[in-house]
Amino acid sequence: MHYVGKELNEECAVFGIWGHEKAAKLAYYGLHSMQHRGQEGAGIASTDGKALYDHKGLGLVNDVFDNETLDALDKGFAAIGHVRYSTQGGNIYANVQPLVFRSQKDSLSVAHNGNLVNAHKLKGELEERGSIFQTTSDTEVIAHLIKRDYADNFLESVKHALSIIKGAYALTMLTEHQMIAALDPHGLRPLSLGKLGDAWVVASETCAFDLIGAKYVRDVKPGEIIVIDNEGLHSDFFTTRTEPAICSMEYIYFSRPDSNIQGINVHAARKNLGRMLAQEAPVEADVVTGVPDSSISAAIGYAEATGIPYELGMIKNRYVGRTFIQPSQELREQGVKMKLSAVRAIVEGKRVVMVDDSIVRGTTSRRIVGMLRDAGATEVHVRISSPPITHPCFYGIDTSTSSELIASTHSVEDIREMIGADSLVYLSVEGMQKAIGRDPAMKNCGQCMACFTGKYPTEIYPDTVLPHEKELLV
Ligand code: SF4
Repeated sequence: MHYVGKELNEECAVFGIWGHEKAAKLAYYGLHSMQHRGQEGAGIASTDGKALYDHKGLGLVNDVFDNETLDALDKGFAAIGHVRYSTQGGNIYANVQPLVFRSQKDSLSVAHNGNLVNAHKLKGELEERGSIFQTTSDTEVIAHLIKRDYADNFLESVKHALSIIKGAYALTMLTEHQMIAALDPHGLRPLSLGKLGDAWVVASETCAFDLIGAKYVRDVKPGEIIVIDNEGLHSDFFTTRTEPAICSMEYIYFSRPDSNIQGINVHAARKNLGRMLAQEAPVEADVVTGVPDSSISAAIGYAEATGIPYELGMIKNRYVGRTFIQPSQELREQGVKMKLSAVRAIVEGKRVVMVDDSIVRGTTSRRIVGMLRDAGATEVHVRISSPPITHPCFYGIDTSTSSELIASTHSVEDIREMIGADSLVYLSVEGMQKAIGRDPAMKNCGQCMACFTGKYPTEIYPDTVLPHEKELLV
């Protein structure tokens, strides 16, 4: 599944399960439920306590695995998995995770969601000391840091590595003897812990638990390292310097509506964003419609709060294949036409409020407004359920460089004119925080809002590499 016509892309999802004889098959289902977070590659590593086994490949989870490959992985009792979104510069097989590092003594497998801001610097330092890298992925940097001191004390070595790396990381790791889950000190990406009978499960989104019948236990905390082995679960912290700053975009756009992030249901948060938008930017209109799929919840909230009926003014063609999931601008624009249609019977002769969750480059919005007008809408009022995106994301979301972000170089009125809308209003930063409903006592309500404000929760190094630039470094 790929959200239709969108210009923002998530980087990945991770999964892990310990203590189940069908661990690899359950990992497959878990990854399948999180396919929206990455469609370019998938992999699973499993263990029987004697060795690590892995299988990975380019494509959707369904393309990569079949019964035979899963049977070969299901030799043991634990597995971790990963789905990956790759950006410009081509999709490289070597970067598909989990990465597996084998040695005579022990093996290590790592799956990572997020992006490190000091990976380039650390990689340079490691190379100077003789490390040779096979991928352009940050994950390999993490593994090299861990492996350097592996002989002495594995857990201390992991903790040490985690205290050196900076940026966003939700990690699952597997050895023959342990599964580890860890989250960066800001908890930039979601990571939840669940149970399936006696087995422990970790996943980027709770929708993975629902699919396999696991029960949600709690969210992994910023700075926490959870070790699961045959003795049970042990929690520790690799730093005391934590400051929650979960990605706001997880609520606004990325996560599945049926997932809960730290106690807040994503669909409910989006509906509240729509309600808040209605309070901040009401307009006289006949119908409200949302851009499928991610903006429908916000559109319903907007309609409820204004009393204007919500209608299915746009539908997506569910059977467009992966052929159209292309990162180039030209194909992306073509893809919108293939994937979305305005419903003439709904919008003809009507004043339409079109609710969307974000505008990145503006090209998608322009096409959607045009589509609604072509279908007979007399007015198109665009309402965005997040603030203008003015800064790039260094934490794993492909939001392009500042110059490509329309709101970083144009006023709201300029953007309105460029997309051809009768009116355009974005939600305020304060309105967004209030609507999502996290703890107001925390700094920024415990949210990262850097792409709206330019205030990054971590240091940004001069040589920080944007996620989509990484593969150009091969
Ligand atoms: S910069 Fe924006 S997209 Fe990136 S982690 Fe922060 S809120 Fe999310």
